[in-house]
Amino acid sequence: MPSLPDRLAGIVGAPHVLTDAGTLAGYLTDWTGRWTGAADAVVRPRTTDEVAAVVTLCAAEGISLCVQGGNTGLVGGSIPPAAGDAPTRLTILLSTARMTGLDDVDVIGRSVGAQAGATLDAVDRHAAAHGLRFGVDLAARESATAGGVVATNAGGIRMIRHGNTRSQVLGIEAVLADGRILRRWSPLIKDNVGYDLPGLLTGSEGTLAVITKVLFSLVTPPEATTVAVVALDRVAAATELIAAASRRGLVVEAAEIMTEAGVDLVHAHGARRPVAQPAPFEFVFEVSGAGAVDEELLAAIEGIDGVLDAVAEPGPAQALWAARENHTEAIARSTTTPVVKLDVSVPIRALPEAFDRLHAVPGDLGVECRPILFGHVGDGNIHANYLDVPAADVHRVTEAVFAVVTDLGGSISAEHGIGRAKAAWIRLGRSDVDIDLMRTLKTALDPHGLLNPGVLFG
Ligand SMILES: Cc1cc2nc3c(=O)[nH]c(=O)nc-3n(C[C@H](O)[C@H](O)[C@H](O)COP(=O)(O)OP(=O)(O)OC[C@H]3O[C@@H](n4cnc5c(N)ncnc54)[C@H](O)[C@@H]3O)c2cc1C
Repeated sequence: MPSLPDRLAGIVGAPHVLTDAGTLAGYLTDWTGRWTGAADAVVRPRTTDEVAAVVTLCAAEGISLCVQGGNTGLVGGSIPPAAGDAPTRLTILLSTARMTGLDDVDVIGRSVGAQAGATLDAVDRHAAAHGLRFGVDLAARESATAGGVVATNAGGIRMIRHGNTRSQVLGIEAVLADGRILRRWSPLIKDNVGYDLPGLLTGSEGTLAVITKVLFSLVTPPEATTVAVVALDRVAAATELIAAASRRGLVVEAAEIMTEAGVDLVHAHGARRPVAQPAPFEFVFEVSGAGAVDEELLAAIEGIDGVLDAVAEPGPAQALWAARENHTEAIARSTTTPVVKLDVSVPIRALPEAFDRLHAVPGDLGVECRPILFGHVGDGNIHANYLDVPAADVHRVTEAVFAVVTDLGGSISAEHGIGRAKAAWIRLGRSDVDIDLMRTLKTALDPHGLLNPGVLFG
């Protein structure tokens, strides 16, 4: 019997099966550096048929399979279990890095098909060449892939305008755990035949199927936008400003909040300070509209109590966006231990209290660490990051954050997913019946538990 690498090489070609320990290492640690897994091989298929053949081999031999796109996920879902933790004898990592094809843009139907490994940036640039845009955008756009954003149901900075990734998915092609190819590929806007399987696979974090191609709907961008950075002395002023701008007929394209500590951190790593006046909070606000957008925006800002300073520029205003865009990377470069990164959401009205209580977590616990909070404030989404947390305190910090969030009626995962990082706490977000039904679906689609073991359910 040929070895596993030889059999994989028979499917994808020898250059695309990696087994050398040094090369494998590049695939086996996640973006945060917190999770390191083990695999017997990395396989890099080019086509859906090759993926199907690899998955069929795994099904026949009982081999676990972890799917990886751009490896920018922040909950440890894109790497296999650590050595000794895998439920099967052999594990492979399937990388979609070579599956980067893009179909022609359907300009009239406003849609495009993308292979799973195409980056967000590539999909967006392809759409932009035809006067359209991809509705999901995030700072990891040059690495995060179509398959990855669908598998995590990513949110990002345009969610307030266009909804999450699930809202952009018209159709999907995926390889099921037994090797069959599901192709629900309808460009129709209205098509209610049976269960929403693309919707089910969206957000499934590699546990139900390997997504090979996605049919995305595209959005028409505004002709022009205005970007403001507004220095604020309280969180509620940001949500009041969103409401005031909407009342004035402005369309909110993005609404992001940062704290002074976060702005200081990115500034220390080279990003320009957006406003001269130091402030407890800085709010990045992008709007569009039909009339005198700048005047309406200014009037909205002037009507808000708690505004300390403001600056505005025509979009894309990358310099104004830089402080927000560089947060995740600056945090990763500044922490002395893997960052405890907890992406949570709370009801909008609870945002001010959530900021206060999440900021107070280290002091409350007596743990020496630095909180940096930022996020998609218009969606009630806070990225709570704790830097320099001693390994012994990671669990306590996580529990304390989740206690605040559940107390406020929020979610322990706003947009990054559960992955490995939050699997132990999934019961905080879903009832027993809900989890039971999710497990039933998992068992129906992947009866031997070969796809991404350890992710979602632990
Ligand atoms: C700087 C930075 C900023 C970010 N900003 C945001 C943000 O604003 N909003 C947000 O939601 N996320 C954000 N993220 C997180 C991350 O970019 C998203 O989760 C993204 O969707 C992951 O895409 P990926 O291709 O890197 O997936 P990976 O990290 O490779 O994988 C993520 C998960 O998806 C699964 N998966 C990947 N490809 C497939 C496939 N083809 N089929 C089945 N399963 C698959 C993996 O198994 C894993 O469980 C950010 C990350 C970074 C580093």
